[in-house]
Amino acid sequence: MVSAAGASAPLRIVAIDGPAGAGKSTVGRAVAVRLGLDYLDTGAMYRAVTFAALRRGIDPGDVDDVAKLSASVEMALDGSSVVVDGVDATVEIRGREVTAAVSAVAMNSGVRSELVRRQRSWAAARGGGVVEGRDIGTVVFPDATLKLFVTASPRVRAER
Ligand code: C5P
Repeated sequence: MVSAAGASAPLRIVAIDGPAGAGKSTVGRAVAVRLGLDYLDTGAMYRAVTFAALRRGIDPGDVDDVAKLSASVEMALDGSSVVVDGVDATVEIRGREVTAAVSAVAMNSGVRSELVRRQRSWAAARGGGVVEGRDIGTVVFPDATLKLFVTASPRVRAER
C-alpha cells in the first residue's frame, strides 16, 4: 500500500509496465474493470503535451517552452477519450505527427516532474487506480500494491 504525501488512507495502486505492443492497455483496462478502479494511461499524458505543443506552434524539442506548457495545459483523460485544452484529441494523440515527436517530450525532465505530480494527485483524489506507463512502478508509485509487467513474444508485439 502507498500513502500519498499528507494523506492517511493507503492508496490501492496497480502499476502496469511492459514493452510497446505487449497489450498493457488491454490488460490494464480489464484489471481496472474487474477491481472497480479507474484507469490512467500515462503515455496518453505525454502524448497530450506533445499534441498541445504542436497545436500552439511550440517546437517539441524546446525544453523550456515545453516544460512551461506542461504546467499550464489542461488535460482530461476519462479512460477512453483525451481532451486537451478543451479539444478532443483522442485520435490525434495516436497519429503520426504526435508519435514522431512524443519521445522528445517524454525525455524532458521538466515535463516528467509535472506529469508525475499530476499522476500522483490523480491517484490520491480517488484512493488509487490502475496506472500504466514506463516509470510507474519504479518512480511514480514505487510502493504500488501490485506491479504487473506485461510482455508478449516479438512476433505478437510486431502484429499489434
Ligand atoms: O505508451 P505510449 O506509446 O503511448 O507512450 C508515449 C511515449 O511516452 C513513449 O515514448 C513512452 O516511452 C513515453 N512514456 C514515458 N513515461 C510514461 C509513459 C510513456 O516516458 N510513464
